[in-house]
Amino acid sequence: MDDLVQFLRNRLDEDERAAQLSLGTNVMARVRRGQPAPRWVPSPEGDAGIWDTEGTPRVKFVWARERDHIVRHDPTRILREVDAKRRLLGEHRHDSSGSCTLCALPEDFDDDADGNRTFTRSAQPWPCTTVKLLALPYADHPDYRDAWRP
Ligand SMILES: [Zn+2]
Repeated sequence: MDDLVQFLRNRLDEDERAAQLSLGTNVMARVRRGQPAPRWVPSPEGDAGIWDTEGTPRVKFVWARERDHIVRHDPTRILREVDAKRRLLGEHRHDSSGSCTLCALPEDFDDDADGNRTFTRSAQPWPCTTVKLLALPYADHPDYRDAWRP
């Protein structure tokens, strides 16, 4: 079942690579030094284009709704999303029993005399729902398996 983790890592690598290519090598070198990448914004000339915050035209002609969508999902956001998803994926691992070491479903609880509640949790089989949900946006990829569908 680690195939799902590898599938997800491959898709995140592809997303990252596409974002990096659109930003260019000079900007990515700056990002690696901890400097921010320019954001994509609507063209300051009022047309339906997209520029970046450093004044470089990025997309010439789009409909306004498409422009707004592209700007919301610009390469810098994709890079942040890839980083967040990788970190989230790294939090979930399976143990020797085949359960996620992080995820567990609450089964029952007990309250002590001081009102403190203690949950009894059951293990969640690997891959856990969180990892399956991370892969769900890529369900149309030819390597995606229906068995991974949460
Ligand atoms: Zn998990």
